[in-house]
Amino acid sequence: MLINFRLPYRGIVGSGALAKLPEVLEELSCKKVLVVTDPNVYSILGKRISEVLSGGGVTYEFSLIEDSNLSFVEKARVAVRRGDICGVVGFGGGRPIDVAKYAAYLENRVFISVPTAISHDGMASPTVSLKDPEGLPLSVFTRPPRAIIADTGIISKAPVRLLRSGFGDIIGKYTSVRDARLAKVIKNEDISEISLELAYAAAEMAAKNVDKIAKFDQEGVSILVEAALMSGLAMDIANSSRPCSGSEHMFSHALDKVYPEKKCLHGEQVGIGTILMAYVHGIDWKRIKMLLKTIGAPTSAEELGVPSEAVIEALSIAHRMRKRYTILGDTGLSREAAKRIAKETGVIG
Ligand SMILES: [Zn+2]
Repeated sequence: MLINFRLPYRGIVGSGALAKLPEVLEELSCKKVLVVTDPNVYSILGKRISEVLSGGGVTYEFSLIEDSNLSFVEKARVAVRRGDICGVVGFGGGRPIDVAKYAAYLENRVFISVPTAISHDGMASPTVSLKDPEGLPLSVFTRPPRAIIADTGIISKAPVRLLRSGFGDIIGKYTSVRDARLAKVIKNEDISEISLELAYAAAEMAAKNVDKIAKFDQEGVSILVEAALMSGLAMDIANSSRPCSGSEHMFSHALDKVYPEKKCLHGEQVGIGTILMAYVHGIDWKRIKMLLKTIGAPTSAEELGVPSEAVIEALSIAHRMRKRYTILGDTGLSREAAKRIAKETGVIG
């Protein structure tokens, strides 16, 4: 196999990291940026990033996005072209990062990831999750960020629900790595060992430190950020989301499809998907459930706010969500098996 990858050029993690943004932009010879953010983050932190940028002699414009869909990607692209902008800064939780990453990729500009929350594992990854015009999930593979600036002072003040969701996405590596190993054996898929080891280490790091992370103070949040960084690097090295996205993600995508009116977050769905797929893999699903409980993330359909029927349906169509070999095989779970698995793991009553 040929291992061939790109990595971020610079990563800064810690309290007060945001202040380093102008220095990083200067190294990249970038004097004007578009800051993609959402109205909520803008109202809380817009002034702060403005002061950092103008204090460092960087010119900037904001592009406010309300969702991670293609129309907001287009809006950001128009602003990039119109404003003679050399870099796009994704400033926010999952959605602004996704939109900024994709717009920067399509316009061939430098992308800087500045997460204000860890709601999923995309802050350092080359992958983008968006909604297509029908509102269905769309995954795109782009490039890793050129730089990542994760200010743990800011991230530790993010809504706890977002951070719990981030934890769920990272715990998903317990099953995604096993799915990838199966695909190596059964389908002879070319997947680098280093990417799998990194992804697994991200889950282990989060799991071992669950009690610390559950406090959501700076120390705990730093560990979560580092685990998300490790998970992103695993994808950068694999040149694919493969090490970090397996059957648990296919369950989450299936739930997006069968129950689009849901209000739950990606990482919350992935966490529950991980309980279910750990059961199918024959590994310790009770431990996964306990970890999610400790962090305060949902572990049942009821807590997720979706009907039991949607969970059963999503489980039985999950294998069709993408052409990626997992424990679900080519034919997936029967409805009866799906129902039994959901019941035995306590995901449905
Ligand atoms: Zn994910």
